[in-house]
Amino acid sequence: MKHSEKAEIFNKDEAKVNWHDKALWYVREKRDNSAHKVQGWEYLRELGSGIKANVLSNLDEYLIQFESNAKKNGIHVHWASNAEEHNEIVNSILVKHDAKKVVKSKSMLTEECHLNPYLEKKGIEVIDTDLGERIVQLAKEPPSHIVLPAIHKTKEEVDVLFQEHLGTKPSQGNPEYLVSEARKHLRNKFLKADVAITGVNFAVADTGGVVVCTNEGNADMGVHLAKAHIACMGIEKIIPQEKHLGVFLRLLARSATGQPITTYSSHFNKAEEGKEMHIIIVDNGRTEQLSREDFRASLHCIRCGACMNTCPIYRRSGGHSYDYTIPGPIGSILSPGKDLKKHSSLPFASTLCGSCSNVCPVKINIHEQLYKWRQVIVKEEKQPVIKKAVLKTAGVVLSKPGLYDFAGKSARFALKNFPKFMIYNKLNAWGKARDLPEVKNDNFDEWFKKRNKDG
Ligand code: SF4
Repeated sequence: MKHSEKAEIFNKDEAKVNWHDKALWYVREKRDNSAHKVQGWEYLRELGSGIKANVLSNLDEYLIQFESNAKKNGIHVHWASNAEEHNEIVNSILVKHDAKKVVKSKSMLTEECHLNPYLEKKGIEVIDTDLGERIVQLAKEPPSHIVLPAIHKTKEEVDVLFQEHLGTKPSQGNPEYLVSEARKHLRNKFLKADVAITGVNFAVADTGGVVVCTNEGNADMGVHLAKAHIACMGIEKIIPQEKHLGVFLRLLARSATGQPITTYSSHFNKAEEGKEMHIIIVDNGRTEQLSREDFRASLHCIRCGACMNTCPIYRRSGGHSYDYTIPGPIGSILSPGKDLKKHSSLPFASTLCGSCSNVCPVKINIHEQLYKWRQVIVKEEKQPVIKKAVLKTAGVVLSKPGLYDFAGKSARFALKNFPKFMIYNKLNAWGKARDLPEVKNDNFDEWFKKRNKDG
């Protein structure tokens, strides 16, 4: 299904769309306030972008350095070229530990690899422990946002969900009550887990350790209670040195939620005594993206979600309309690289206003890359006949001054004289939230000539 068709489903509930829009804009404003308080914020962004560019140009060396240092720390390092290999490696570690219960924290990569359904088929219970992720897991839905996975759900909806799955009392969406019930439920799962799986925000080449950022402390809780820790990371998560963490930790939290720092930045450098730590380094299409000159900078992404919070399309169409693990502007760059045919509508789900590029902490030229994908898609994919015909006609009109002039005059006449109901009626959703411009008598050319004549 195309993005526009999925967005239409989300748009049916107008009140919810407005609420979703406002909730994300509130986060965007928090990000602005927080970023503006940091002197040299733009310099920090430059620095972050430069470090990432260096990483991508020397990725092979940094990855080998990381592997060697991690091994020195006693960590087991595995390499997976795709999602299947990643899932098989996770399973082999679970089998080794005879694990039947797993707690998971902060990993979009395992979503990308569809790890949960894979393990569930093998009879393993996998519990997502981030509250938002647990909510969407109970609702049997994928996350709709990479930082706020359940942002599309109201607290009243969560109330009903918890009553159904956790046996809570009706509370009319009382957040304190719901959070305390979720905490009890999750604590029980933490205590019984055999293995903890986490994502990786940053993998430090010169120490061989990884850093996971959470606001709920769930990565620490899972890792410290289970007998083994599996950290799953994409190859682009590498940063060269520990000192670079200061740049990214400051950029990440402020861009994501407007916080000065994430509540927990957990450093995992080796396994606790008597336990095991594994790191799985995953490619799954990333080297292919690296080879695409125009799109390789998309691998700078530190998954803060700021481009989603600011995007006028994302805020009004919801994360599920993108039908890809990473939604929003950055997802619309990454997804065509994975499956051009399936995701060919996504680069068009943008106004190209550039707001995404403006907020991106690592200065990815997001809107320019979206525009580039459009050019590739138009060349490689069949375009709808109507769209092609309209663009062709527009091309002819714009290339002939006389015709353009006539079209302008006709449009001005129509705007002035045609009855308003032709725009503002139930059949034309376009007119619902738009005002038509005030119509002038002349176009610019005519106005300019008249002005010169009048002296
Ligand atoms: S593309 Fe930039 S703004 Fe969007 S999630 Fe990635 S780092 Fe954040």
